[in-house]
Amino acid sequence: MNRTKYIFVTGGVTSSLGKGIVSSSLAKLLQARGYKVTLQKLDPYLNIDPGTLNPYEHGECYVTEDGAETDLDLGHYERFLNVPTSQDNNVTTGRIYQSVITKERKGDYLGKTVQIIPHITDEIKRRIKLLGSRGKYDIVLTEIGGTVGDIESLPYIEAVRQLKWEMPNDCIVIHLTLVPYLSAAGELKTKPTQHSVKMLLENGVQPDILVLRTERPLTIDIRKKVALFCNVDMQSVIESIDVSTIYEVPLLMKKEKLDITALRKLNLASGEEPELKKWKQFVRRLSNPKHHVTISLVGKYVELGDAYKSISEALVHAGAANEIKVNLRMVHSEDIEKENGLDLLQGSDGILVAPGFGERGILGKIRSIQHAREQKIPFFGICLGMQCAVIEFARNVLGYQQANSTEMNRKTPYPVIDLMEGQKGVVEKGGTMRLGAYPCTLEQHTRVAGIYSELHISERHRHRYEFNNDFLDEFQSHGMKATGFNPDTGLVEIVEIPDHPWFVGVQFHPEYKSTVINPHPLFVDFVKSCLK
Ligand code: GLN
Repeated sequence: MNRTKYIFVTGGVTSSLGKGIVSSSLAKLLQARGYKVTLQKLDPYLNIDPGTLNPYEHGECYVTEDGAETDLDLGHYERFLNVPTSQDNNVTTGRIYQSVITKERKGDYLGKTVQIIPHITDEIKRRIKLLGSRGKYDIVLTEIGGTVGDIESLPYIEAVRQLKWEMPNDCIVIHLTLVPYLSAAGELKTKPTQHSVKMLLENGVQPDILVLRTERPLTIDIRKKVALFCNVDMQSVIESIDVSTIYEVPLLMKKEKLDITALRKLNLASGEEPELKKWKQFVRRLSNPKHHVTISLVGKYVELGDAYKSISEALVHAGAANEIKVNLRMVHSEDIEKENGLDLLQGSDGILVAPGFGERGILGKIRSIQHAREQKIPFFGICLGMQCAVIEFARNVLGYQQANSTEMNRKTPYPVIDLMEGQKGVVEKGGTMRLGAYPCTLEQHTRVAGIYSELHISERHRHRYEFNNDFLDEFQSHGMKATGFNPDTGLVEIVEIPDHPWFVGVQFHPEYKSTVINPHPLFVDFVKSCLK
């Protein structure tokens, strides 16, 4: 096998330019050309992982098969490449410092002063090369979080400078910047890009390719100007124009020959012409829906589009699979608690109650579920959404008005959702939930068994509480069935109401496994049921 090659993607001028999408798109094209590619995200903050971060701070926390709580960009990586990521694909400054300081305490650096250069930068380089060292990948694409010029990003840029110096034939840097359009001047402006590249140069890094995010097409003159001022050839100035869906970006990058240019700079053959038949078919279906449905997503972080990223993307995948455009209505669970709050759900073809933590907005979630159950509207509950469905059923069908989860009320006389045995005594918050993939066995002849077309599945988790099996018989005899169990512990993973058009609650997070090529069957069936 050839040596592993490294591509670094940095961002300039401003955040939110879509570095994750451009990285995923390039990786997709390289994969389609026959290369084995993986994507990695380096996050310049001091938290060990985003698991302890509020969604308002950081958007969704994405969970991998191996139970890592990671940046939401890893979700894009999996959705685009259709290959699972792992803990090694997301590294934070917190994790880097933790390793270095642990080594220092063990005496590994005995006698030496431990410094950012070389010790922190060495640890960053080790984490980057770790993915390349296992012979599994031809190309490792590493996205550096933050914006060039941030103090936090400096050690990462320095590590990239060193790697480029050590492996001049095996590393390239792609810098993503913004070319704003000034309507007063009637012009696209390249100065921010020039300054951003200058900043990289000050740190010793010459970018090999520039990807320019723009609202308007770049003229030849603009491309020439950027090439001249930033020391790159014309082919290495890539336009990334705004598009209606992120899934068009790979096709756009292909048109701009980003993949071919990157391969040329890495001294790699262009390989096969990318086979993107399925991808194009997906984009076509997405852009030409035959039907429309409105699904209300009830949660407490709805002001923030990124908080439920994997769920909204899974609904996009499922919509395209059914040739249905899903209009996603974000409904704040606390607004449902207000007078006439249920009016917010009017006209919903389906209701999805989101995952979450803590008491705020719980009543709104429970009311939404009661509405869906009684009005026979398709209902999908995920994690806390499933737990709320159980509480709702206990209160309004079993008649236990004070039923609750012990997360919300430790002293409830009817703890239908309770802390998992293994969680009792856990005091630390970071990385201590039930995380990652666990097997689940489905009951025969149930809705979910039909949907999955198999009885042994595996799904990812992120929770501390579970269905309390002391109440199982009572629920089952009143019409809420447990239809999926963990085969080792008996933990209830799925509840259903068979006497309802579509009512499914899952303790796990199916949204993490939905990809363009493999839309998740639960989402596909849920969206389909919303049309009926
Ligand atoms: N708060 C609930 C628990 O910890 C649900 C978690 C979630 O929705 N991810 O069990």
